[in-house]
Amino acid sequence: MSTENTIERVKCLIIGSGPAGYTAAIYAARANLSPVLYTGLQMGGQLTTTTEVENFPGYPEGVTGPVMMEDMRRQAERFGTDIRFGIVTKVDFSGHPHKITLDGEQTIEANAVIIATGATARYLGLPSEEQFRGAGVSACATCDGFFYRGKEVAVVGGGDTACEEALYLAGLCRKVYLIVRKNYLRASKVMQQRVLAAPNIEVLFEHNTVELFGSEMGLEGARLVYRKGEADEAFKEIRVDGFFLAIGHVPNTGVFKEFIRLDAEGYIVTEGTSTRTNVPGVFAAGDVMDPVYRQGITSAGSGCKAAIDAERYLAGL
Ligand code: NDP
Repeated sequence: MSTENTIERVKCLIIGSGPAGYTAAIYAARANLSPVLYTGLQMGGQLTTTTEVENFPGYPEGVTGPVMMEDMRRQAERFGTDIRFGIVTKVDFSGHPHKITLDGEQTIEANAVIIATGATARYLGLPSEEQFRGAGVSACATCDGFFYRGKEVAVVGGGDTACEEALYLAGLCRKVYLIVRKNYLRASKVMQQRVLAAPNIEVLFEHNTVELFGSEMGLEGARLVYRKGEADEAFKEIRVDGFFLAIGHVPNTGVFKEFIRLDAEGYIVTEGTSTRTNVPGVFAAGDVMDPVYRQGITSAGSGCKAAIDAERYLAGL
């Protein structure tokens, strides 16, 4: 019996299934690159945890995140993208072709790789946050908000995500505290206005969370500090059943860091206005290389650029 282990070889491997990955797949498939796309753990990426998307062109009435991502998936598939469920656990970008290990088992060789692995929600780093994760602590209001209907909850953060989550929860919960560490919201004006006008959202400016408390049954509240270190520093407790983090994201680049140049925050560094990384034949698109804009539409745009860059690279081989 043969024990020969044949390694699959593909022209273009795309890692990630958010707007960047799917858009790269649509362009790569239409350019006859026969792309293979690995979805990662969260098929459809971060947008699958968003409710209404109102700012993606082409949807004048708005669209839910999951529906939009399903549309993108079908569009990528329509042109022949081979979409597979799997997680990249190791890469070897030291030579050519590039070697990518999936789920710790199977290895694929690729002439060109597009990294579109996105970013993951950031947590405060409190031990009690770990203790209540899944029992009151969440980083996704649209996933878990339903469990807190009629209850009191808190959202941490002052950006668009925090405002969006607070507004979503305000539609479900009796009261929402928005805990903001500065004395202003960083979110866009329209989101700020909506939050400040919501009767059941109380914005706690200049507050930080010190600790969460509760019992084996789950979270019961949070201990906060107002103007930490200032003369008028004060501590207070709020009673909440749910505590939602919306304080930004960390790029999913751990598996690539041995080979790919990252910035101080862990985002992939690309060359000029291109999607080229420091490794020839490896390209990056979407939130994994964009600490600034991080929108669905900008991710889709960079996915398109990555496919075009990959196509030109492959043509030159
Ligand atoms: P942002 O980086 O914009 O905001 C993060 C917020 O969390 C800031 O208010 C920040 O405070 C706060 N924060 C960070 N660390 C801590 C901490 N340790 N303790 C307390 N607070 C903390 O992230 P977002 O996820 O909100 O947004 C990311 C990008 O996505 C933005 O460009 C945003 O515009 C966009 N976006 C757009 C949406 C839309 O248009 N519909 C929806 C959601 C996001 P500080 O201000 O003090 O730094």
